[in-house]
Amino acid sequence: MQQFNMTINGKSHTSGKTFDVINPALGVPFATCALGDVSTLDEAVVAAKNAFPEWSQLPEETRIEKMNALVGLLESNMPEIMGLITQENGKPFNGFGGIGSGMEVGGSMAWIQATCSFSTPVKVIQDNDEARVEVHRKPLGVVASITPWNWPLLIAIWHVIPALKTGNTVIIKPSPLTPVATMRFVELANTVLPPGVLNVITGDADVGNAISAHPDINKIVFTGSTPTGKKIMGLASSNLKRLTLELGGNDAGIVLPDADLKAIAQNLFLSCFHNNGQTCACLKRLYVHESIYDDVCNALVEFANTVKVGNGMEEGIEFGPVQNKAQLDKVIELTEDALANGAKLLAGGKVREGDGYFFPPTIIGDISNGSRLVDEEQFGPVLPIIKYTNIDDAINMANDNQFGLGGSIWSSNPELAYSLASRLETGSVWINEHGNVQPDAPFGGVKQSGLGVEFGQLGLEEYTSVQTIKVSKL
Ligand code: NAD
Repeated sequence: MQQFNMTINGKSHTSGKTFDVINPALGVPFATCALGDVSTLDEAVVAAKNAFPEWSQLPEETRIEKMNALVGLLESNMPEIMGLITQENGKPFNGFGGIGSGMEVGGSMAWIQATCSFSTPVKVIQDNDEARVEVHRKPLGVVASITPWNWPLLIAIWHVIPALKTGNTVIIKPSPLTPVATMRFVELANTVLPPGVLNVITGDADVGNAISAHPDINKIVFTGSTPTGKKIMGLASSNLKRLTLELGGNDAGIVLPDADLKAIAQNLFLSCFHNNGQTCACLKRLYVHESIYDDVCNALVEFANTVKVGNGMEEGIEFGPVQNKAQLDKVIELTEDALANGAKLLAGGKVREGDGYFFPPTIIGDISNGSRLVDEEQFGPVLPIIKYTNIDDAINMANDNQFGLGGSIWSSNPELAYSLASRLETGSVWINEHGNVQPDAPFGGVKQSGLGVEFGQLGLEEYTSVQTIKVSKL
């Protein structure tokens, strides 16, 4: 089995303890990783704290040069990293719609470059005979990043790069279910970054709690579930850490009666099922007008019945397994609950016999709000499709949820769709697409989906504190 170590202060770090990482396509371990604990965290914090003064004082161009060197490292090691992502996460190299581990590594490279093009310039608020008032952005110090298992490398990049770019030093703790691409990336990054600037440690809730309470960590950027985000927020109050929390989602899409089904069908399917529905901003509940309900169901069922599901390491596979057994069990439970309560199975629905955690793209009709499958975040390849009669009801049903990450409206009349967009209680609204995040547009949740935003200049600013400098001229 392949072995992976933590990296602290530029050095490979073991702890005497290890844990296995399971390949969800086979249900057996493929890698062994060094296991961190609270004392490993303390070492990493000391390293990051010591590295901060020099790193934060470097000219921004020098930090950008180093970030760009990371792009080169990802490019030259792309096949290896793609293989690690596919083995730990399950997504195929080039899945349905081109979404797979190739896109994850390529997207990471593009994201680094784009993030380096944003800046946080000094703003001059006043400059007259009385005074000059400037607003400066300063790095926060040691930033901790905690990541989930669904996009292990891309989400790590989303956290680490803006933090480093603005002059912070970083400790990243990946999900124990998918740590290896991150561990390998940090190992590579340490060939170009000064020691202590970027460290990776492993562990689960014990290390997570210690991160949240640590007095020398100044900010946490967390992507993961809402209950974990709330725990972090509680403990982080000890030293008033800055927080960016990208939490759960249960995104609704609304198909208006005039939607051009031929034009949108593939994109609609992709929006619901890419990465097996295991993306925070996947479309997870679809509200369809009664006049085209059957047509939309049939079009999505056709895709669901024909896509190729299997081990993502094999050629031509479009969908891999669910990433872990607990998630698979949740998907089964919510599907069974819906069917037991009168919903209709339109496609998929049965776990695949044999190795791995396979569940086919599953579509469920004759269902409504109030069903667990609609109300809860299923975070897997199961789509409930709900019929509506008038648009006000559809918007009320879409908003009747604790989450508020993304939403979408599908119509051949973009002006009409646009006029409805602001009625959705979500951080993002897409028209005739869903979940297409981009590096220059802020992305974040409202309600129980989180705090703060990532990406673009607003995202960059979250890694800084404001310092106002007033020079009196009297
Ligand atoms: P999770 O909350 O179980 O775990 C996420 C990370 O938190 C892991 O690294 C885990 O080890 C760590 N952790 C566990 N307990 C902790 C604690 N007490 N303190 C600190 N850290 C702790 O989430 P998951 O199952 O890995 O990911 C799935 C969830 O992530 C879904 O709810 C999904 O919607 C959400 N997600 C959100 C976004 C977004 O941008 N909003 C993106 C991807 C995933």
